[in-house]
Amino acid sequence: MADKEYDLIVIGGGPGGYAAAIRAAQLEKRVLLIDDRQDDNGKPAPGGTCLNVGCVPSKALLDSSKHYHHIQHDYTDHGISVESVSMDIGKMLDRKRKVVKQLNGGLLQLFKANKIDFANGRGKLLADRKVEVRPHDGETYTAAGKHVMLAAGSVPFTIPNVEIDNKYILDNEGALEIGEVPERFGVIGAGVIGLEMGSVWSRLGAETVLLEAMDTLLAVVDTDMSRAAAREFKKQGLDIRLGAKVSKATVKDGKVEVHYTDGKGDHTEVFDRLLVAVGRRAASDNLLSDDSGVELTERGQVKVDEHCHTTAKGVVAIGDLVRGPMLAHKASEEGIAVVEALFTGYGHINLDTIPWVIYTDPEIAWVGKTEKDLKEAGIDYKAGNFPFAATGRGLAMGNASGHVKILADAEDDTLLGVQIFGPNASELIAECVVAMEFHGTSEDLARIVHAHPTLSEAVHEAALSVDKRAIHKAN
Ligand code: FAD
Ligand code: AMP
Repeated sequence: MADKEYDLIVIGGGPGGYAAAIRAAQLEKRVLLIDDRQDDNGKPAPGGTCLNVGCVPSKALLDSSKHYHHIQHDYTDHGISVESVSMDIGKMLDRKRKVVKQLNGGLLQLFKANKIDFANGRGKLLADRKVEVRPHDGETYTAAGKHVMLAAGSVPFTIPNVEIDNKYILDNEGALEIGEVPERFGVIGAGVIGLEMGSVWSRLGAETVLLEAMDTLLAVVDTDMSRAAAREFKKQGLDIRLGAKVSKATVKDGKVEVHYTDGKGDHTEVFDRLLVAVGRRAASDNLLSDDSGVELTERGQVKVDEHCHTTAKGVVAIGDLVRGPMLAHKASEEGIAVVEALFTGYGHINLDTIPWVIYTDPEIAWVGKTEKDLKEAGIDYKAGNFPFAATGRGLAMGNASGHVKILADAEDDTLLGVQIFGPNASELIAECVVAMEFHGTSEDLARIVHAHPTLSEAVHEAALSVDKRAIHKAN
């Protein structure tokens, strides 16, 4: 039988792959989308890491645990007292699963509405833009694409001598499914995932210890931001140990014994559960046949040029599988931009203005360059900042820690970067991204009217403060 032919075959149905497939279908292209993920009942579960075991379920648990924590610790200040608070962890996990399931179903409907052929199974790239498809419930077949997009995403890194069993020693999947609150919860890695999942279980009552190999917390942002964050996390009870390199973890009698070394020597800690959150790597295993023509980098990522073209003609790759930030919105926008470039001749994504968010409480968000980056690059800049404690809204909400920092070019005032540690930073960063994408200046942000009272006034005032004319603080 002749191979079924498509304009585009996408391998991987995460936020990168499915968004690309939908955009191609909107452009009236024949699309095959292959994704191997299934739910516990063996039903297709498109949406990738992000929807199934990443962004979405982690935010569901972050929100649930935040409510629980606020009721216990923050409501009395508002004059609200709650006699007894209890928690049903089973219900909390069920709610999270329901959110994921609803979105899985929504995606399957979208594929149908867009006339995308969806295969639930494994895809493998062969030579000449052919793809072997192994459905979970059917015969293996081969399809041919005018173009093939690799969007297989990423998997967790592991470290030697620490074996994930997802019972006691967990990766992100296990950490989203703990059926009871551990008394002691250990986390290896105080990066994005470690801080978020550590916050969840700490708020729910676990004594939480994060072991981080680096000497600085959140080296990706400036020290004023990371110090403010560290102070706040400490107040919340997170025990973050820096310079602590884990060498081994073993399960003994239902507990996890962890060995780590820091400047003071060797240490052992015992936890009820241990999360390994030491980063992620490209999911390039078993994706390519030997003669596919696609080359990998030393780190196992698919090698691409600036337009996401791989070393094989007609094969593109996007998202966590390639260079750049491992973020869902980067994957989606990259997928869409590449599809548009292939089929309309023009597509756009600016990797320099991708916002980052860590959903701790308060949140941390940033875009563009940090002061560290600018100093290293020898770029002259001006900085402005403003604390949420000086905003009416922050105080009224009872959530006014943190600040906004804006960096602008010393000569022409172009916005170079923004960092926010504070309430709703994930939403506040959006206007800064827009301003930067339009090559705006700090003066532009300062001249734009911001509603009062809102948290966005802190962004406005930080922009005014670049020119030393903030109203609600001494400049
Ligand atoms: P993925 O989402 O990994 O999707 C790839 C899909 O392809 C998967 O379903 C995989 O099973 C499938 N696949 C792989 N190989 C094959 C094959 N050969 N055949 C068929 N199917 C295949 N990012 C954010 O922006 N915001 C967040 O808040 C956030 N939170 C996160 C929290 C956690 C706990 C984790 C783990 C990640 C989080 N991320 C977050 C990162 C985000 O999940 C990823 O950046 C994003 O999912 C990458 O999208 P992708 O489409 O490249 O790949
Ligand atoms: P992220 O990439 O944001 O998920 O962060 C992962 C974190 O894990 C980084 O800050 C690493 O420094 C940290 N890390 C990696 N290996 C180890 C290790 N063996 N022990 C402790 N921390 C580690």
